[in-house]
Formats: sequence, structure tokens, C-alpha cells
Amino acid sequence: MQTNFSLAQLADPNIAEAEDILRKCVHCGFCTATCPTYVLLGDELDSPRGRIYLIKGMLEGDEAATPEVTKHVDRCLSCLSCMTTCPSGVNYMHLVDHARNHIEETYTRPLFERSLRNLLSFVIPRPFWFRAALNMASLSAPIMRRFLTGRLRALIDLAPKSMPAASVVDQPQTFAAKGTKRGRVALLSGCAQTVLAPSINEATVRLLTRLGIEVVIAKGVGCCGSLVHHMGKEHAADQQIKAAITGWMLEIEGVGLDAIISNASGCGTTIKDYGFMLRNDPAWAEKAATVSGLARDITEYLVEIGGAEIGGLEINQSRSDPHTGPAQIVAYHAPCSIQHGQKITKQPKQLLQSAGFEVRDVPEGHLCCGSAGTYNIMQPELAGKLRDRKIKNIQSLSPDIIATGNIGCQCQISAGTDIPVVHNVELLDWATGGPKPKSLG
Ligand code: SF4
Ligand code: SF4
Repeated sequence: MQTNFSLAQLADPNIAEAEDILRKCVHCGFCTATCPTYVLLGDELDSPRGRIYLIKGMLEGDEAATPEVTKHVDRCLSCLSCMTTCPSGVNYMHLVDHARNHIEETYTRPLFERSLRNLLSFVIPRPFWFRAALNMASLSAPIMRRFLTGRLRALIDLAPKSMPAASVVDQPQTFAAKGTKRGRVALLSGCAQTVLAPSINEATVRLLTRLGIEVVIAKGVGCCGSLVHHMGKEHAADQQIKAAITGWMLEIEGVGLDAIISNASGCGTTIKDYGFMLRNDPAWAEKAATVSGLARDITEYLVEIGGAEIGGLEINQSRSDPHTGPAQIVAYHAPCSIQHGQKITKQPKQLLQSAGFEVRDVPEGHLCCGSAGTYNIMQPELAGKLRDRKIKNIQSLSPDIIATGNIGCQCQISAGTDIPVVHNVELLDWATGGPKPKSLG
């Protein structure tokens, strides 16, 4: 694709990067067929190629974002399905990230939307406030549902019916390896996940320590910055990212780390991109690249250390529950951030199969479930359509369990079905001696 940036514009490394990305696009349109918003809306401007043109025009003209550009970029889920499809290696992720920053800097959203975005970006990354907000939402939900529509209704609908208690596992500490120590990793305990499903980190710690891995929850590491980064709030993202890097670097330069583990694939995709995000910051570039280099999804790490046989752990066949029978059928929902963002496609399924589950692929598995950070709140109609489509595809498999690797997908899908949605790691922990996940009854 031809571009028309001036030399002065190209002196900005972010514009130079955007130009590089734009030039790779050959307008072929292959990406449109796998873009969830194009599939739903059939509008070229809601396809990757259409958005690329809109972003190009906005950046070349050095213009403030218009309501039109903002609308179509906001409708993008950042699912990155287009990156998997694109034959030319267009890095849409970096382009749309830059566009979101530009929009945030140059466009004034309507007051309600601005306030809601500010509220979400403040509350969700802070477990204390997020828990308080969810408790309030849960209490008021039966009444509020009668009056609310749109985004506020979506917000209320996402509140879980009962809130789990905070877990001590999520406090900064070190968990000793069981038996012979084989390695040492940091686990990102995260923000929203610690409030919505603390059982995921508990299962992760049990599984890793059972495998002989020492696990540290590093001091000072909170949210990975992903949520605000995807809202174009670069200043807030920068602060959260640097706090995380500082916490992990203390461990890396101290006792040492073999890996930095994420069990929420949306977070993992962002941590793996820290090196790129801070590449122009001389004080942070090297540290960011070090952290990104160590980042691993939990399933990726498990296969790295022990192959698909869950590190050689004995599979506890007694997990077969007398009520559900021995062969649980698992529909594996691949989060976009794992399959498109991190290109991890085999490991989760291999591990679940090794653990004795019958794993089935969800039809149209490349399409997003509609979760996408705060997307299901900010774009409730599109997110609802994507969830319905996802659930219909899942139900066609008649599964006993839906397994996934991202808390956002877990909440989004479970809000629309009675089939239990469980994190992969909870099933692997259960299969190797841990407790049965609570949601399985
Ligand atoms: S990231 Fe997803 S929603 Fe956005 S343009 Fe690409 S395929 Fe479409
Ligand atoms: S598939 Fe790639 S090269 Fe083709 S239009 Fe989409 S982004 Fe451009």
C-alpha cells in the first residue's frame, strides 16, 4: 500500500512504525472473511482492511480522530484474527494500538461514554475497587435489571451471582517446589481474575509446585496494563507496565526466574509485547525485552518443561466423577489472545487430552466470543451476538465442560450457558491430584 507521510511525520518512531505496517498491506481483503465484525455487519469499514484505510487517512493527514473513525476502530475487538489470516504479515495489532492512542489523545467522546471508560479503566485493574463495585452490582442487580439498558445493563449482567472470597495465594510470596526443585517462575496473579475466579491462581500454584517448580508472586506487580492499553490510555498503561517490570526485574536479578507465567492469555499477549511497547524508552527498553522474553502462557510452559504429558505427572483416573462418568467431553474454546495473539494452538488441547479428557474443537473457533477486555460492556450488542454464535457452536458439540484459558472469555461465555466454563489449569490440576473445580458441582 502506498503511503504519504512527510519526512517530519516519519521522524516520529510511532509514525515510522505505522508506515512500515501500512506498506505491507496489499489490499487483498483475505482478512475480511475472518473478521468477526465484518462477518456480523458486512460493512467494509468494519473489516480490517477498511479500518486500515481509515487509520491511514487519519495518521497521514495528522488529523484529530473523527466520530466516524472512532466508531469503526471502537467496534474492533483487537481479536487479531486478521493477523492469523493475513498472508503479508501486516501487524494490525501495533497499528490499531497506535490508532487507539491517537483517538484517545485527539477525540473528545460524549460525556457518558468518557465517564464510563474512565470508571472502568480505574476500577477493573484495582481488585479492592473492582470487588466493591461487583458486590454493589450483585446486590442491586435484581432491581436495576428492570430499568437499565445498553452499556449499564451489560455492566450489571457481568456481575457474578456470588462473589468468591479473596485468596491468600494472590499476596506477594513464594511457594516452595514439591520434591526436587526443577525451576523457578513468577506468576502474574493479575487484577480482575483475582476477584472473579481466585481458584485459577490457586490451581496454577498447586500444579506448578507439584511439578517441582517454585512459584513467586512478585511484590509490586499488579495489573499487566492490558486493559487500559486496549482503551488507548497509554499513560495509565505505562505506569502499570513499568510497575510490573520493576517487580519482576527484582526477582530476575535476585534469585532468578526461568519464566514469567500468565494464566490469562489476554495478559500474556500484552506482556510478550512489552519489549515492543517500550522499545524507544532507553531506561526501560532492555528490561522490557527481558520480561517479554521470559513471558509464557501456562500451557506453553507446561509443555516446555515436560511435554504434553503434564510434566510426567501421574494422571489421577479417580477424578472420574461417579455422577458424571469417566469420559468428560470438553469443548475447548481457544481465546483469541492465545490462538491469534500468541499463536498457541496445540498445547492446551494436548495437555487436556493427556489428562484424559475428550477434547473437541469448537466450530468457527477463530471467531471471538465478544469478551475482548471491556468490549462486552462498551459494545454490548455486537458482543451479545458473538456470544450467542459462540454458544450455539459450542452446544453443537454436546460438551460436559467448556475449557478455556482466559478469564474474560470464561465470564462472557458462562453468562450465556449453563454448561460449566472452567479454566484449563483447573482441569489439569484436578487430573493430577488437585480438587475438583467448584463449578463442576
Ligand atoms: S482485530 Fe478482530 S475485529 Fe479487529 S479488525 Fe482484526 S479481525 Fe476484525
Ligand atoms: S489480509 Fe493482510 S494484506 Fe490483505 S487486506 Fe488484510 S491486512 Fe491487508
